[in-house]
Amino acid sequence: MQGMMNGLVFRGDRTVEILQFPIPAPGPGQVLIQMKTAAICGSDLHTYRRPKAEFTDRAPWITGHEPAGIVAEVGPECHRIHVGDRVTIYHYLACGHCRYCLNGMYQWCLERRGLGQPNAAGPDADYMVVDERNCLSLPPELSFDDGAMIACIAGTAYASLRKLQVNGEDTVVVFGQGPVGLMNVIIAKAMGARIIGVDVMDERLQLGGVLGANMVLNPQQVPIVEAIRDVTGGLGADAACETSGSAIAQANLIDALRPGGKAVFVGFGAQGPSITVSSFIGKQLQLFGSFVMPIGYYWDLVEFIIEHQLSHKYQQMITHRFAITEGAEAFRVADSARAGKVVFSWE
Ligand SMILES: [Zn+2]
Ligand SMILES: [Zn+2]
Repeated sequence: MQGMMNGLVFRGDRTVEILQFPIPAPGPGQVLIQMKTAAICGSDLHTYRRPKAEFTDRAPWITGHEPAGIVAEVGPECHRIHVGDRVTIYHYLACGHCRYCLNGMYQWCLERRGLGQPNAAGPDADYMVVDERNCLSLPPELSFDDGAMIACIAGTAYASLRKLQVNGEDTVVVFGQGPVGLMNVIIAKAMGARIIGVDVMDERLQLGGVLGANMVLNPQQVPIVEAIRDVTGGLGADAACETSGSAIAQANLIDALRPGGKAVFVGFGAQGPSITVSSFIGKQLQLFGSFVMPIGYYWDLVEFIIEHQLSHKYQQMITHRFAITEGAEAFRVADSARAGKVVFSWE
């Protein structure tokens, strides 16, 4: 396909620019995606905030990693995906053959390239090229917005909660009510758990309540560990998810769990150490790290979203929708920590 397209690039110190790029051509085993939804992620914001000096000596690259769209063109040697297919994209490109790839863990492949990094153009653009193997077909029940959620945060939340094996007997505390935390609330609720949402921003706590948290707590207003013990018979919570990346939250999480409790850590960004090994030996806690879902969870997650009718909750989570040409404002809103999910939309 000939022509030019809009592409969003970071310039450092919270500035973005929309540049014109040639529409890329798919090579062997690759397809061209016409974007329909591309969502902004908390991890994009880490890059958005980096200083200008880190951007001056390198060519600008198109950012983002949460796409869904329509296949506009297929390159040679593509057999499964066709022009017109509605797809979401698994956001780590990988070799597809190594032991990690064969286990669905593309994010561990030694040849991995994450979309939106300098070596793999992301979806904050009218079009992008990706490997055919990264295209996941969207069933008719799911929208492009659902696809963009699955591309990152729904997959991340689902994979993290599978590690906790959450069920209807559990009280689960979700630290952080940003988009990933809200997604953990939605999915853990659908798994049957009773949910306590924790955040310091009242706008986000309110959204947590709307999306399924049975109770929300602001640690700036209540002593958080005592408050959690108070509502769990003095014992502490059965399980917890840490999505905020705050060192204080990480420490509170350990204290808020009951003996034998489980927790999963998803949020990056904590400055310095937060917990000590001796804090979880006596309580025999099980602590997990979780990062991106294995690609093999895709159909299980799709069925879970359809079965539990989560699409309308995802729509409630999307608080702001922008054209790609409004990229500066979109990132300003996402950076405010008051929004739910912020998306670029071509619909
Ligand atoms: Zn993401
Ligand atoms: Zn590999």
